[in-house]
Amino acid sequence: MFDDLNDLYQQVILDHSKSPRNYSELPGANRTAQGHNPLCGDHVTLFLNVEGDQVKEISWQGSGCAISRASASILTTALKGKSVAEVKTLFDRVHDMVTTGKSNGDLGKLAVFAGVHKFPARVKCAILPWYAALAAVEGKAEPVSTESEE
Ligand code: ZN
Repeated sequence: MFDDLNDLYQQVILDHSKSPRNYSELPGANRTAQGHNPLCGDHVTLFLNVEGDQVKEISWQGSGCAISRASASILTTALKGKSVAEVKTLFDRVHDMVTTGKSNGDLGKLAVFAGVHKFPARVKCAILPWYAALAAVEGKAEPVSTESEE
């Protein structure tokens, strides 16, 4: 499934899936959100500590394919320190990128997921942690599923 992905991007994805960053529960988290992608079997739980308007701390746990794990790992590194408004803006930009393959501006490491748009079934794996992040900053208690977002 990775054959058409750029080698460097593939390496970054494999690295994050094997050695996920911020992989733990977060003591003192005041927001949590769960996401589930039933098509692939990916589960992700995000733990956030949001103070005022800022994501002070963020971590995650979960199980699933390499794409979903790498996406969650990179998401936590991208969102730490961001404001709630910035999280929503990034969600929109990542969503556009994984569905069209084009990125609007510099998304840094998140750009490794641009190639995912060629694999429609994998788009949901990549975007799953982002749905969970959006739910977390919006304070939604219900688990999110990629299949209710269509
Ligand atoms: Zn998956």
